[in-house]
Amino acid sequence: MKLVFASNNKNKIIEIQSILPDTIQILSLEDIGCHEEIPETANTIEGNAILKANYVTEKYGHDCFADDSGLEVDALNGAPGVFSARYAGEHKNNEDNIDKLLNELAGKDNRKANFKTVIALNIDGESHLFTGIADGKIIDERKGTNGFGYDPVFQPEGFERTFAEFTMQEKSEISHRAKAVKQLISFLKSL
Ligand code: IMP
Repeated sequence: MKLVFASNNKNKIIEIQSILPDTIQILSLEDIGCHEEIPETANTIEGNAILKANYVTEKYGHDCFADDSGLEVDALNGAPGVFSARYAGEHKNNEDNIDKLLNELAGKDNRKANFKTVIALNIDGESHLFTGIADGKIIDERKGTNGFGYDPVFQPEGFERTFAEFTMQEKSEISHRAKAVKQLISFLKSL
């Protein structure tokens, strides 16, 4: 079975391919000759994952899955959410995004937040959604240098360390992305 992952992130593609049985072959956007930028214009994380998967299925006729992730902060009514990458502007700068987040939360007691990944899958004429959540809180200063995005200020529940103080292996055991991917994989293996 051939399945497109609507991504050009080679690491993500290799990682998923290595977990799946050989009967499922993952193709990248490059592999199918899709070089245009796929619109991500929905106003929810779910919506963007669905937009991307549908774009490939409708335009190229392939079974496909796409992912979208973001940080949702309780005291900010779920922001930055779908705007996580461009929270402080279209230049998509991680440091500016963290600065903006800490400013917005200054003086607020409720620091609860979660990362969310949604994977939208189109297969055999059906659509499925898989959601992974990592609960935690936003601390008030950066700690650690690993990871990316909001990792230096996100402390997962049950730990006294931020994601930026986890190794990649440790993070991949409890992350939102790992949880969504696990669901996708167990679904694909059950086909
Ligand atoms: P994407 O959909 O995986 O590209 O994620 C969108 C944005 O959400 C990223 O640019 C980050 O700002 C934020 N984000 C998603 N996952 C993580 C994570 O694991 N750590 C830190 N930030 C993340």
